[in-house]
Amino acid sequence: MDAGAIASLMQHPINSALLVLDRDGRVLAANPAAQALGLPQAALRYAQLLQDLRQALAEDVQRTVPCSLPGPEHRLDGWMRAVRAPEGGVLAYTLSIPDPDGSSRWQVALDSAGHGLWDWDIGANRIFRSDSWLAMLGYTAEEAPENGLETALALVHPDDIERVRASVQAHLDGRVGAYACEHRVRHRDGGWRWVRDSGRVVAWSADGRPLRMVGTHTAVDEQKQLEERLRRQQALLEEIQRLAGMASWSWDPYTDTGWWPQDLYRLLGQPVRAHDSARAWLRRLPRGAAASLRRAWRRMRRDGEPLNFDLELRDAQGQPLHLQAWSRPQMDEDGHIVRVLGQVQDVTARWRADALLRWRTELLDRVSSLGHIGGCEIEPGTRRVQWTDECYRLHGLPHGPLTLDDALALYTRESRETFEAALARLAAGGPPEQLELCFYRQNGRRARVQVLVELDCRDGLPPRFVALYRDVSRELETSERIELLSHYDLLTGLPNRFLLRVQAEEAIAAAQDRGETGLALLLVDLDGFKSINDSFGHAAGDAMLKAAAGRMHHTLQGGDLFGRLGGDEFMVVLRRPIDGSEAEEAARRLIAALSEPLAFGSEHLKVGASVGIALLGHDGEGFDDLLRAAHAALRVARERGRNGWQLHNEEIHRHTRRRLEIEHALRGALEREELALVYQPQVCVKGDHPPGIEALLRWHWPGGPCHPGEFIPIAEQCGEIVRLGEWVIAEACRQAAAWHAAGLQFGRIAVNVSGVQLRDRGFADRVVALCQRAGWPPARLELELTESALILDSDNLRHCFQVFENHGVQLAVDDFGTGFSNLHYLNRFPVQRLKIDRSFVADMLSDTNAGEVTQAIVHLGHALGMRVVAEGVETPEEQAQLKAWGCDEIQGYVYTRPLPPRELAQWLARQANEAPGTPAWLGETPLHAQVR
Ligand code: C2E
Ligand code: CA
Ligand code: CA
Repeated sequence: MDAGAIASLMQHPINSALLVLDRDGRVLAANPAAQALGLPQAALRYAQLLQDLRQALAEDVQRTVPCSLPGPEHRLDGWMRAVRAPEGGVLAYTLSIPDPDGSSRWQVALDSAGHGLWDWDIGANRIFRSDSWLAMLGYTAEEAPENGLETALALVHPDDIERVRASVQAHLDGRVGAYACEHRVRHRDGGWRWVRDSGRVVAWSADGRPLRMVGTHTAVDEQKQLEERLRRQQALLEEIQRLAGMASWSWDPYTDTGWWPQDLYRLLGQPVRAHDSARAWLRRLPRGAAASLRRAWRRMRRDGEPLNFDLELRDAQGQPLHLQAWSRPQMDEDGHIVRVLGQVQDVTARWRADALLRWRTELLDRVSSLGHIGGCEIEPGTRRVQWTDECYRLHGLPHGPLTLDDALALYTRESRETFEAALARLAAGGPPEQLELCFYRQNGRRARVQVLVELDCRDGLPPRFVALYRDVSRELETSERIELLSHYDLLTGLPNRFLLRVQAEEAIAAAQDRGETGLALLLVDLDGFKSINDSFGHAAGDAMLKAAAGRMHHTLQGGDLFGRLGGDEFMVVLRRPIDGSEAEEAARRLIAALSEPLAFGSEHLKVGASVGIALLGHDGEGFDDLLRAAHAALRVARERGRNGWQLHNEEIHRHTRRRLEIEHALRGALEREELALVYQPQVCVKGDHPPGIEALLRWHWPGGPCHPGEFIPIAEQCGEIVRLGEWVIAEACRQAAAWHAAGLQFGRIAVNVSGVQLRDRGFADRVVALCQRAGWPPARLELELTESALILDSDNLRHCFQVFENHGVQLAVDDFGTGFSNLHYLNRFPVQRLKIDRSFVADMLSDTNAGEVTQAIVHLGHALGMRVVAEGVETPEEQAQLKAWGCDEIQGYVYTRPLPPRELAQWLARQANEAPGTPAWLGETPLHAQVR
């Protein structure tokens, strides 16, 4: 029972001394009269005596037993009763000493002590009632109710009559030694009064029939009311506890007896027990919960303090069950715990809700930390801020209390002001705002955050600013880097072609606005850079570029634009009125800046530069015009050799115009059938092989004569060479197959191939396919390549050569001796022929040096197992000399100029007939036998 509730009940003014005892007879409460009488101490002292009475009350339906305790001055006579729950279990015991002050006269004058006396003459059926009996029920002597049992019973509450009757009968029959019954009697005022009615037969007839019975009536209303209130309080308490999912328990550590709530057994799916030992519980509970219980008990024993603890169990269905228990120890005088009282509450639902909330919060935390989103609340009045974990992380601050001003101190002044202004607008009712703020983390790093801030006014809550922070530093850095990448050259850090264009266009527009001319655009191309890249690797090439850029930059003035267009090409814009000679002077300085070798590691490397110059107003009006003009001038400068510069001029202009015309006209030349091939034989010196035939392209351009030396480089630059080249191969193979079919005797057909064509990985396969389509064996096709095409060692090139080798396509190096000194490619690729450049042949008889080179090439070719061809052989002297030096084949005007197909066929036929005797090659295996 709840001690507080009982104590409050005891405050009611009651004359009787009242004591409430728990089920074990311990004093729960005593009213002031009982305290004054020393009743609690007496109960303690005579606990054994009371225990017997309790036993009797607990076992017996009889609800009242007389009780007599020795008091300090006189005996304390009273009644003890059991307070029962509606289901019958004992809740507590009450002990009352009626009118304790008058108890000295109790024995002498029961009557005056508040006990009504009755005396029943059974035979006559007359009942005598004392004055106090009458007074108790509000009667005077005159108004006394009728005598007789039935009249007496008529006053008894209808619900109690049967009980009274049965009790009397039981005594009259001798089944119980005394009659005792508590019942309600009608007061004269019409209300009911509880009385304790008891008596016994005092006279019997000779045959043992009861004749007379005497007894007392004691008003027990006060005690009854107390009990009733106790019961109601208890019921109320239990109801409240039930509603709260809570129940009381108590445990007696000495006897290890506990009274546990029935709901608890039901929750756990266990049979309900009236009481149960803690030991039994420990056995029944899961290990974790049992351990929590033991821990709680140890702590309580150590501290003697009330204690809360949680238990995690499984319910009847095996689902997790979370209980929260409150416990309060009761101590004896020696400080030993004599009993533990407590409450237990099923908090599973709350626990689940909390767990869900925790899970959601964690999820949100995770999401926000993944997204680098921090949250923050600001109290407008105090300017106190509440930050989420991510917000602390984002700002690089340790956890701790913060004010808005602390936080803002991190920010730049501008950001601070922006934020404050936004808060002010929000406070004035403005809509949510998105800001971008900047602050410095404690490590000094700049951070940028996007902040979404609004004023949150929710019902019942004070308004507060809510801000979401997102770290956008990375994003901004990336976009800035992209910006940088798109405008600056990464290697040199100089403006790239995009930025240069923008800047140059602005400069041109500004100059034109001022009515100025003479702004100069200089294009700088490094000479010899490619060979550094090829010989020393890209790292060296990059270092060279950086160093060269730095040197050139030094020669410029503050207002000049300088940037890298790509590769080894740089651009300078002199943003001032300038004439041609001043621009040339600037070009000279740029070139001079590179005259000293550049150091790379231990190497000292030398690069030169060529510069093309165009002047605004003179060579063009817009950026593109100027750039084209400068390019054209640069080409001219480059053609003249290293370290030269060239101002754009009229001739260059004409030249450029012609190039553009040719480029334009070339694009439709194939379709217009303006192209044709001529053929020139390559004659075997020893006369033991039929001649090879080289196909050379001719363009019959209506615009005028245009030889391959002019249009081939243009076709290479504009890419048209790829289409033209394939046409040449197809046409040459077709022609060769036709000649062969006509019975003409010759060896291979040779075709010139540009380096541009070889860049395409699929080229070789297409060549093989073209042969097959023309019905010409690939083994009788020779491709003439220049050294520059072979020097670039790439995957594609190797793939092509592999395909050529697989199909027996032969390779010749054209113009050998004019290109690079690095001859490694001769080992790398399956080359069968070297063609000595025409320039050596032309000079070899007059220039001993050229002659020596020619001889050396013949030796080199033979040493590498190749055949050597001399081209451009015009005279029999040259022919004889080459023959003497061991050259294998000769091509040139000495035999014939390149001829159209029909004429070449005639030439071949003539050669076969005119020769003094049949040439050796005509007696050999018939050609058709070689066709696969
Ligand atoms: P190349 O491959 O060195 O061709 C030899 C050039 O020398 C040809 O000039 C030819 O007419 C010329 N020639 C032959 N014998 C003599 C001689 O005894 N004396 C002199 N002075 N010249 C002689 P052409 O036909 O004007 O060709 C010029 C260049 O154009 C060729 O030089 C070749 O590099 C290129 N070319 C010609 N046709 C094609 C083609 O179909 N494709 C490619 N990619 N280039 C071609
Ligand atoms: Ca050639
Ligand atoms: Ca050549």
